[in-house]
Amino acid sequence: MRSSTVKRYLLPMRRFPAFLLVGALLAAPALTAQSRPWTPPAIDSAQLLRDLSVLAHDSMEGRDAGTPGGARARRYLTERLRAMGYTPTEHAFSFTSRRASEPRDGRSLLVRVPGRSDTTRVLVVSAHYDHVGVRDGVVFNGTDDNASGTAALLAIAQSLRKSPPAHTVLLAFWDAEEQGLRGARAWVDAPTIPLERVAANINMDMVGRNVAGELYVAGGAKYPRFSPFLDSLAVGAPVILKRGHDAGSPSDDWTNQSDQGAFHAKGIPFLYFGVEDHPDYHKATDDFETIVPGFYVRAVQTVLEAVRRVDTRLATSAPPR
Ligand SMILES: [Zn+2]
Repeated sequence: MRSSTVKRYLLPMRRFPAFLLVGALLAAPALTAQSRPWTPPAIDSAQLLRDLSVLAHDSMEGRDAGTPGGARARRYLTERLRAMGYTPTEHAFSFTSRRASEPRDGRSLLVRVPGRSDTTRVLVVSAHYDHVGVRDGVVFNGTDDNASGTAALLAIAQSLRKSPPAHTVLLAFWDAEEQGLRGARAWVDAPTIPLERVAANINMDMVGRNVAGELYVAGGAKYPRFSPFLDSLAVGAPVILKRGHDAGSPSDDWTNQSDQGAFHAKGIPFLYFGVEDHPDYHKATDDFETIVPGFYVRAVQTVLEAVRRVDTRLATSAPPR
């Protein structure tokens, strides 16, 4: 998801005061905007594109939540994560679809990556794997939205397996985002880890293409302590990393237009990575062929670098309350 039209369906969400932890998060001595360009972290780009092609294939039937296509996508993710040595678990919930009145089942997929030195504070790194399914007999493959973020999360999972994070990371493949952030909302309402231990959410939704080579990162306007960190990340990033879409008019502010909105509603800071809307957004033409592989790989490297840096910087921030 991620359009201003979708917002109409969202309930107004009360703003909660940030946790005390939030105040300390990333408040440690800041890297500056003058920081050196950084070397993109290694990822298996061939595997990334293979995963993308599988998730975006017609056989996944558009990965609609509560459908056989959605279950097939989840099985694929489960197999991939098990092959890496992880033990994924399902987070089940029920929801009422926008297009039908009877309740349906959603199942997010969770993987806990224990921290090397701190298992108290947790980073939730996420992407929704569902899309809108089949309409009038036409499969909506949802390649950019959000097979791109889903395959990226697999690449991040692989990286964290090879080189474990300092703090515990919860990898969350959300279901039913297209129905109104249902999987993420279900998790923050029935979390598997106490919310006060969640230091931040880093969410990806549509990271596969942009004609100008631009990737947005949102969250710095709502959580200004991210600002120095984001400035340094942007310097020397392998994509044009732009900040924005996290303040201003409702149509321009993407905060509640993907799963990070569920975390923000609980006062948990977030970073959201995604591209501007494009002509194939939420159309049946959001196909594998429209992805720009070079940009996509560099976008995933940028998000992985952000995960590594937030993980590192948590070590110098205050402990949770
Ligand atoms: Zn989406």
